[in-house]
Amino acid sequence: MVKLSFFGGTRMVAGSNYLIETENTKILVDCGLFQGEKVIEDKNYEKFPYNPKSIDFLLVTHAHMDHIGRIPKLYKEGFRGKILGTRPTKDLTHNMLLDSQGIMKDEAKRENRKPPYSQRDVIGVMELFEGIDYHQILKLSKGTKCQFRDAGHILGSSIIELWIGQVKIVFSGDLGNPPVPLLKPTEFIDETDYVLVESAYGDRLHEKRGERKDLLENAIEDTITRKGVLMIPAFALERTQELLYELNSLVENHRISSIPIFVDSPLAIRNLDIYKKYPEYYNKESVYLIESGDELFKFKGLKFTETVKESKKINDVPPPKIIIAGSGMSEGGRILHHEIRYLPDPNSILLIIGYQVSGTLGRKILDGAQKVKIFRENIPVRAEVKAIGGYSAHADQKGLYQWIAHIKRPVYPLRNGKKDIKGLKKVFVVQGEEGPALALVQKIKDNLGVETEAPYFREEIVL
Ligand SMILES: [Zn+2]
Repeated sequence: MVKLSFFGGTRMVAGSNYLIETENTKILVDCGLFQGEKVIEDKNYEKFPYNPKSIDFLLVTHAHMDHIGRIPKLYKEGFRGKILGTRPTKDLTHNMLLDSQGIMKDEAKRENRKPPYSQRDVIGVMELFEGIDYHQILKLSKGTKCQFRDAGHILGSSIIELWIGQVKIVFSGDLGNPPVPLLKPTEFIDETDYVLVESAYGDRLHEKRGERKDLLENAIEDTITRKGVLMIPAFALERTQELLYELNSLVENHRISSIPIFVDSPLAIRNLDIYKKYPEYYNKESVYLIESGDELFKFKGLKFTETVKESKKINDVPPPKIIIAGSGMSEGGRILHHEIRYLPDPNSILLIIGYQVSGTLGRKILDGAQKVKIFRENIPVRAEVKAIGGYSAHADQKGLYQWIAHIKRPVYPLRNGKKDIKGLKKVFVVQGEEGPALALVQKIKDNLGVETEAPYFREEIVL
């Protein structure tokens, strides 16, 4: 008997958490944070719907918080099994959990409740974490094995193949949007019985990716002409590193003149160290650049400001200049200090490169707000607001569909009247809001004729 239960990522993007139970083994895939509306985030404080002490293995697809954020809580509640993830995932998880632990502590204090876990729990988690590589067959227990493959979404991100006796299940994690700077393309899966596929952009198609570098170049040139400040709110994991890769290329190919470029995010700087540590995870183009002597994250004008004191000194540097800072949706972080200073300046530009969730400050500015409130101050928005869509780290509907369509399907009917039952039996669409998830369900059903559903929270299925 193999039982699969859904404890997150169900008709929502975040909270990814799936349990597989066999006669002798309990395996979790991901243990992510719930993010979004307050009712959803309150789930982070609830007890797990299973006994963490009984879990033997936790397989981690990648180091985004919606896939790892509750691991320390799992530890705190007694989990002492083995954690498996790629080596970069392990290192990035360490950075991300330490950073969020600090943020959560402050948040809990404001809301007058106990934080869900402490720094000691993060240390405990890292002691259980074993860093592995792609394409290693890992035996978990008798009859159970797994393999991690490249998802091309962020550094170290994985698709997980799990074999239990005769049954195979694949977890897509988050799938990338190739071609991506630095990363290798998303791997395809040839064969499986069951698959869980993400659906963040299950109902949308991305803009053309080739144009994005030109748009970035234009924004920088406009900034230089007007002697303004180019502010780029960016996520500390992947987006900032990709942006630096593109800036490196623009500067070193003399497509833009050199101006000061500040990376004003301690977490992004720490994550960058991990990117530098794993060049074997890069794509051919990046490896070629490194071999020809280019340091990808080092170019004229680039400065990293880690301390608050260094960050404040950015103000003294006369424009034109570029500031890349977190958070990606202007919901906190150092970008807010720069927005207070430069949003009122008509010569400056705010460049939005990531998805802005409804209700966030970033979304309000993107939607054309004339005035915004930051730290109780009313700030007029006179800077120009530009957006580039092609930077999404997720596959769009076409990419997701093609990934599923690649998996071998059963052949009906065979001449002897029997069905060839080998092939994809069922698709579970997860990690997307209800609209995108159901759109992808429909697309797969209509075109591939495979049984497909978007499971509900706490749904259980015997495979
Ligand atoms: Zn992700």
